[in-house]
Amino acid sequence: MKSLTEALKEKHVLLSDGAWGTYLQAMGLDTGECPEYWNILHPDEVRSIAQSYIDAGSDMVLTNSFGGSPFKLKYYGLSGKTSELNEAAARLSREAAGDRFVLGSMGPSGKMLLMGDITVEEWVHGFGEQAEALARGGADAICIETMSALDEALCAIEAARERTSCEIICTFTFGKTAQGDYRSMMGVSPVNMAEAVLKAGAHIIGANCGNGMEQMVDIVREFREVTPDVPILVHANAGLPRQQDGQTVFPETPEQTARWIPAIVEAGASIVGGCCGTTPDHIRAMAAAIRALGLQAVRNRPSERDTENR
Ligand SMILES: [Zn+2]
Repeated sequence: MKSLTEALKEKHVLLSDGAWGTYLQAMGLDTGECPEYWNILHPDEVRSIAQSYIDAGSDMVLTNSFGGSPFKLKYYGLSGKTSELNEAAARLSREAAGDRFVLGSMGPSGKMLLMGDITVEEWVHGFGEQAEALARGGADAICIETMSALDEALCAIEAARERTSCEIICTFTFGKTAQGDYRSMMGVSPVNMAEAVLKAGAHIIGANCGNGMEQMVDIVREFREVTPDVPILVHANAGLPRQQDGQTVFPETPEQTARWIPAIVEAGASIVGGCCGTTPDHIRAMAAAIRALGLQAVRNRPSERDTENR
């Protein structure tokens, strides 16, 4: 099978999937329940999420393993099941994906090096166990996501490189500061992040969560200033969250999110998909917007126009 970066050379824009966390909650995952435990307790439900995105047109699906590092599983007394839960996560997405891509999700550990919570060796070892199990279950790439600290992201990249032969995606979550700049919670700018993770061996960089497509356009432009050729992935929320009757809601409709597709592709994104609040309907609307772009590109290509006129 082709790698993700090879597939991108043929097809300039690929569609990823939408939210997992908010989807699981909608399916009945309780606060305080371990999402990854569902991979063995409720495998049909987990597989159906992946399937619904594949059916909506996604070229790739993630795995239900965002909190599947031993560091996070420890909160639920499940760190001993790290390999089992991650392998199951990848297998379920693989079953739904068929010949599409499976991205093994690895989220933050919740530990900080500068607080003395953890050592570099512990990070590399724990992320390594997770990455290896995701690859064994059938992940094509490892997607290190929602990162905010460079030291942690670099340990996760090193772990995935050591323990798997998967391509590596690394995405950070950025927010807008009062000065109008984008920074991660740990103060890392898109430019600093891109330079560091590419040097560490990531194949694809990007941004996820924290922002809607509108803000992601600015972030992708910043990435493009330092990386003209590297594929960029964007997983945007369905707009910026709002509090409504004590609930967090993501306000964008599928059509509103999809309206940003031309702008995000123009800015340089090569893989687009959703994060919190996005649904299979958002992915379906984005798929239509990407198809429309393809038609436009064909119409604008002079050689094809000439052929038509002949
Ligand atoms: Zn999110």
